[in-house]
Amino acid sequence: MYDEDDLLPISALNQLIFCRRRCALMLVEGQWADNEHTALGLLQHGRSHRQETESRGDLRICRGLRLRSLELGITGIADVVEFHRSDANRESAVALDGIDGLWRPFPVEHKKGREKPDQADEVQLCAQALCIEEMLDVHIPAGALFYNASRDRLEVSFTEALRHTTIRTAQELHQLVERGQVPPAEPSRRCRGCSLHDACTPDLAGKDATASRYIELLLQAILDNQETPP
Ligand code: SF4
Repeated sequence: MYDEDDLLPISALNQLIFCRRRCALMLVEGQWADNEHTALGLLQHGRSHRQETESRGDLRICRGLRLRSLELGITGIADVVEFHRSDANRESAVALDGIDGLWRPFPVEHKKGREKPDQADEVQLCAQALCIEEMLDVHIPAGALFYNASRDRLEVSFTEALRHTTIRTAQELHQLVERGQVPPAEPSRRCRGCSLHDACTPDLAGKDATASRYIELLLQAILDNQETPP
């Protein structure tokens, strides 16, 4: 069990899967830089993080719900948690204050782009579900990812395998922060859209970078800058 003071952001699980170095630059060194992707993401999250509840018949939509798991040591704010009226048993539904019946929670995470090839978004969503399960003592079998660019809403089953990956990623996140070291860069296509590219210098900080290669690339970078017109 973690203390409240040791909780790490749920969104960092997504960063860790995207790139360990980026995650460490943010959490260990406190680096942050916006580009058009992150700025748009923050704007869209700002919209969905205003805390409010909406009723639509047998559906309650709760936006901006604060989440935490002391077991996993993570905290965050859910974009949306839907509560569907349910005749399911108490194991997968909860009572809501001032409303009759039982309600089945269903987390929905909004993403600005399109579906990604890795499991980062699924893990982030599953982490939210694990928080809600711990907070409300309920079982959540599924949730959804909503991609703003494509308008696709993809249902995600919280399988044993996904739960296991999420728990392991949360453990790795805490280990990364405890070590307090930024791992070497592993340059790849994802670096092109990374807002921390300038802070990271992936071509200079790769694990295969030798001192002579470092100096060669540094000199080249200086020469390139000198050739750049003001
Ligand atoms: S530039 Fe590449 S290696 Fe560096 S933090 Fe970003 S994604 Fe990771």
